[in-house]
Amino acid sequence: MHDFDHMLWQLSHQNIQAYKDEDGWYLLINNPCTHLLEDGRCGIYDDRPKICREYTNDFCEFDESSEDGFDLFFEGYDALLKYVRRRFKTWNNYATTRDEHLNES
Ligand code: SF4
Repeated sequence: MHDFDHMLWQLSHQNIQAYKDEDGWYLLINNPCTHLLEDGRCGIYDDRPKICREYTNDFCEFDESSEDGFDLFFEGYDALLKYVRRRFKTWNNYATTRDEHLNES
C-alpha cells in the first residue's frame, strides 16, 4: 500500500498520470524535459539517463489511446484513490495508521 500512497502523491502534481501494462506500473509525465533544446535535440545527450537510452519509438502512448493501450490508466489523484479504495479494503485503516504514526513522530 505504501507504493500506492507514494503514487497518490505523484499524481497530485499537474500533468502526471499513471498506467499499468504487461511490464508493470509507469508514470506519464506530460511536461517537456528541461534538457530538450529548441531544435528538438537533447541538451545532455552524452550524459542522458538510462531510461532515455533505453526508450524506443517502436510504440508509445501516442500510438494508441490510453484506454486501449494500457491495462489500467489513471488520469489523476481522484481516479487512483478510487482504485486503491476499491482494491484494498483496508485502505482507510492504512491511511489512519499512517497518519497516527506521523502524529507520534
Ligand atoms: S533524451 Fe532524455 S534527457 Fe534528453 S531531452 Fe529527451 S527526455 Fe530529456
